[in-house]
Amino acid sequence: MGILPPPQYDLGEHPNAIVVHHSLEEVNDRCIGAGHRRNRRYIGCAVLVASNANDTDNLPVCIVFLPYPDKIGYYEELRRHEMGHCWGWGRDHSRKPQGSKPTKTFAPLQAPTLESKTGA
Ligand SMILES: [Zn+2]
Repeated sequence: MGILPPPQYDLGEHPNAIVVHHSLEEVNDRCIGAGHRRNRRYIGCAVLVASNANDTDNLPVCIVFLPYPDKIGYYEELRRHEMGHCWGWGRDHSRKPQGSKPTKTFAPLQAPTLESKTGA
């Protein structure tokens, strides 16, 4: 289905990626909440966050919202797709480099992996 990134962005797991799994509904909510357009549904997204000044690798932190692996039939491909965005693949999915400049400053995360739908 052609969701894999072009080769220059298909670089495997990004070292600063933080993968957060949610239900499909929540993934969509998170992606829109993180600034993605409201006029479509998201099954995953990657949010680049400025790296802190002490970082030596100069790579942004990349928050990746994905559905739980058992909720989607092509999780690995989807994960590679989103990792491609972490590596600088533009949101327009073109092959042209757009640099890996952070596009969004994200509010501090509140231990998202500890959240549950029913609350605790
Ligand atoms: Zn994409």
